Amino acid sequence: MNTTLPWWYKTIDLRELTTHPYAWPGGYARYAICDDGDALCVKCVEENHEEVHTDEPNDGWRIVALDHTGNTDEPPTCAHCNKEIQ
Ligand SMILES: [Zn+2]
Repeated sequence: MNTTLPWWYKTIDLRELTTHPYAWPGGYARYAICDDGDALCVKCVEENHEEVHTDEPNDGWRIVALDHTGNTDEPPTCAHCNKEIQ
């Protein structure tokens, strides 16, 4: 079977996120974006590894994207611990 993945497809590797919590270059704090659009800090991804997942269902713990604070004007707030991600 020869399946071509769409150009935007990127596997979300949560282990990679937790071992590299800061973007390089720049040193920006990385974070996960959940299916409800909320941000989740790396610490909460690590501490809730039983809840977070990257496949169905959409229960608010599904990670749909990764980003870092270099892409935002205001530091996002973690939806779980309510701390500013920085
Ligand atoms: Zn958090």
